[in-house]
Amino acid sequence: MNKGWNFSAGQSMLPSEVINQISNDVFDFNSSGMSILEINHRSDDFANIIYEAEKNLMHLLDLPDHYEILFMQGGASVANAMIPMNISYNSVANFILSGYWSNKSKNEASKYCQVHIAADSFSNNINNYYFPKIENWKVSNNPSYLHICSNETITGLEFVNWNDYSQKKISFVIDATSNFLSRKFNMNNVGILFAGCQKNIGISGLTVIIINKNLLNRHPLKTCPTVYNFHNMFLKKSIVNTPPIFAIYVAGLIFKWLLKNGGIEKFESNNIKKSEIFYKYLDSTKFYINYVEHKYRSRMNVTFNLVDETKNKKFFDNASDALLYNLKGHRNLGGFRASIYNAMPIDGIHALINFMKDFECRYG
Ligand SMILES: *Cc1c(COP(=O)(O)O)cnc(C)c1O
Repeated sequence: MNKGWNFSAGQSMLPSEVINQISNDVFDFNSSGMSILEINHRSDDFANIIYEAEKNLMHLLDLPDHYEILFMQGGASVANAMIPMNISYNSVANFILSGYWSNKSKNEASKYCQVHIAADSFSNNINNYYFPKIENWKVSNNPSYLHICSNETITGLEFVNWNDYSQKKISFVIDATSNFLSRKFNMNNVGILFAGCQKNIGISGLTVIIINKNLLNRHPLKTCPTVYNFHNMFLKKSIVNTPPIFAIYVAGLIFKWLLKNGGIEKFESNNIKKSEIFYKYLDSTKFYINYVEHKYRSRMNVTFNLVDETKNKKFFDNASDALLYNLKGHRNLGGFRASIYNAMPIDGIHALINFMKDFECRYG
């Protein structure tokens, strides 16, 4: 296989060790004489897979005892519905709008409960992306939770200092889909932290929900589907119906791979290095531009535009020829985006920068 670098935002690049392991297990899992694709969800093999995945994730995150991990389906989009259904009965969910995804979360929640926008930098964020300043947040009285997207994947905007907000006692709900396991999070006051797995933890079909136990006895909506009920999922250890076995298995391999290669701390320092090299390069040229305020620049999704946008197609085509894949920006935003999750090694960053320098030399 002629392997290039995959900069896709999700599904995204996986480590080659993990792909090799998967390809063995597709033929024969654990000398069982069966493929991983044929494993039954009540089997000892699967019991072991999900047990290990949970244990290793707890260990990676150094998670305090008052949190539970749920493995659920439907992606982050379904989490946007499950959360208000489960924990916002008859109360008001608050949102910080910082981009496309937090706005989507707010729209979905508004079907199930009252919502209040505590701050908004999304409505007027053209060519200048930033996160609403904490001193301007206006949180309503007794909110059921305050939703924050810790990494707006489309614009490449990252914010993790939610605990600097201290005016009200609050449960934070964090959509960490695109920066989960890329850095250490401060979990103080976090009620729920969730992530669709296809960005930094494997493949689509699985959502990891980390929930503070004190939220498990809130009153869910009567109409909440059985398989979306957090308390029920907790009691049944995430196996209420047939779970996404293959996606849980892949996530489990990723957790092992992270542990084996130094854990979150090591990956965080790699991610700092990778993103700093890239932004430093972007800031050094007048040919490319990034529109995110410096302190909110994402370590995971680096967006950039050509100052002369008539060269966009040429850039994209030449990049593909150079085996640099999936650099197109989100369809709502245009431009370009390089997603550089945990699995992207520094060599991939150098390959991209060298290509961009060369492109500027030829067409600048
Ligand atoms: C991709 C993404 C989502 C949507 O994830 P799905 O699993 O496709 O529903 C939600 N939030 C963020 C921050 C994302 O990056």
